[in-house]
Amino acid sequence: MPPTDPVSGSPATPATPGARVVVIGCGFAGLAAARQLADTPVQVTLIDRHNFHTFLPFLYQVATAGLDPADVAYPVRSIFRRLHNVVFRHGRVTSVDIESRRVTLADSSTIDYDHLIVGTGAASEFFGIAGAAEHTRPLYTLGDARRLRNDVLSTLEAADAHPENYDDGAPTFVVVGGGATGVETAGALMELLDVSVRQDRLRIDPQRTRVILLDGADRLLAGFKEALGRYALETLRSRGVVVRLGELVEEVTPTGVRLAGGEWIDAAAVVWAGGVTVDGTLAASLPVAHGRDGRVAVQDDLSLIGHPEVSVVGDAAAVPLAPGGAGPCPQLAQVAIQSGAHAGRQVLRRVAGKSTVPFTYKDKGMMATIGRRSAVAQLPRGLVLRGTLGWLAWLGLHIVYLIGFRNRLIVLVNWWWRYLNWPGGPRLIDADVDASQ
Ligand SMILES: Cc1cc2nc3c(=O)[nH]c(=O)nc-3n(C[C@H](O)[C@H](O)[C@H](O)COP(=O)(O)OP(=O)(O)OC[C@H]3O[C@@H](n4cnc5c(N)ncnc54)[C@H](O)[C@@H]3O)c2cc1C
Repeated sequence: MPPTDPVSGSPATPATPGARVVVIGCGFAGLAAARQLADTPVQVTLIDRHNFHTFLPFLYQVATAGLDPADVAYPVRSIFRRLHNVVFRHGRVTSVDIESRRVTLADSSTIDYDHLIVGTGAASEFFGIAGAAEHTRPLYTLGDARRLRNDVLSTLEAADAHPENYDDGAPTFVVVGGGATGVETAGALMELLDVSVRQDRLRIDPQRTRVILLDGADRLLAGFKEALGRYALETLRSRGVVVRLGELVEEVTPTGVRLAGGEWIDAAAVVWAGGVTVDGTLAASLPVAHGRDGRVAVQDDLSLIGHPEVSVVGDAAAVPLAPGGAGPCPQLAQVAIQSGAHAGRQVLRRVAGKSTVPFTYKDKGMMATIGRRSAVAQLPRGLVLRGTLGWLAWLGLHIVYLIGFRNRLIVLVNWWWRYLNWPGGPRLIDADVDASQ
């Protein structure tokens, strides 16, 4: 039975034969694809294992109690509530049969398609490091961010109640990975410690409570210009983060990490920002060529060789920078948005009987925040911003891309509230304490 539009009551069947489009994933890529297809003569079924879109760049703020989970997520049904040719299906896709053009969900139901767009993103890469998957907190989903926030706040409360349980009487937090997520999280953890002592009067010694950022490379923010990596390093160190470069993690246990040289570091919580992979995700199961990090090899128009009706977009794909195989593009929100939109447009061209056109990435730069009034921005044409200017650019751009007017307003108010140093912020442990506490 075709789905029915609950608003108009009319059947949401495709106006054009052969125009059933399935989009898997409501991340930046899937949403951009679905938006291109909205209000066109195709019938779109958008599937995600979450019933909301998550603004991943703000996850570290949820994890460090700067923002609430609801501020960085938006219900998919609300995004498409007025677009009658787009229906949402909540569920996890477990397999794609590209020969019979059918996707299967975890509850065994199936959906047939004429065109498929896969935007299932990536997952944390643990590089086979012993204990990393089991004992660290990755930062990839809203659930990850909530769990990390609970861990960090619970640790601070426990340190206030029982300082004798910690080496030096104070907890240590370790962040593994000196890319944008690691830098942002380490900087924000330091700010949370400051607020916890100054405003919440937690009895922890800020001189002895450490945030340690570890990276195996000899610099931070690989992918950014070297000067911006140096700026991030100096800023983090000046704010009290212990940054250790050239350090490889060999093992993680529930109580700490062991470095390749044998050194042991006690840690109350270990944040994993060590990298991402497509291996293990749905896209990895597609019977096509994959790159080293599992990213799916796509043609210039983002479709699969031999299957022009299937496109893979965003983090899941080795998206070419430009026609001719240059690339792949970095795994960034802009790449996901542009590639998703491109795939959506190509579906419309095929439905209209036109040939597809190649994808070309328009570089809009990249940014990372280090903390209060400090960020780095690497913009097109070699333009570089840092410090307060970089931070303002970072704030402005992220607000623009955040979905939902309410979320934008709340995040803006929240930031200025904290900027003015007024107490508040969602420092809530939303997990029940166990019986021993
Ligand atoms: C913590 C963090 C911070 C980041 N910060 C920045 C930043 O500041 N700037 C920037 O440009 N980029 C940033 N990135 C990268 C950027 O967020 C990604 O490049 C972008 O989200 C990729 O979009 P996507 O749509 O391909 O995948 P995602 O956004 O990961 O979306 C994938 C979607 O697919 C769904 N899904 C996955 N598997 C299934 C399945 N089997 N069935 C159903 N649904 C499924 C997921 O639930 C998810 O909604 C950050 C990433 C992370 C993790």
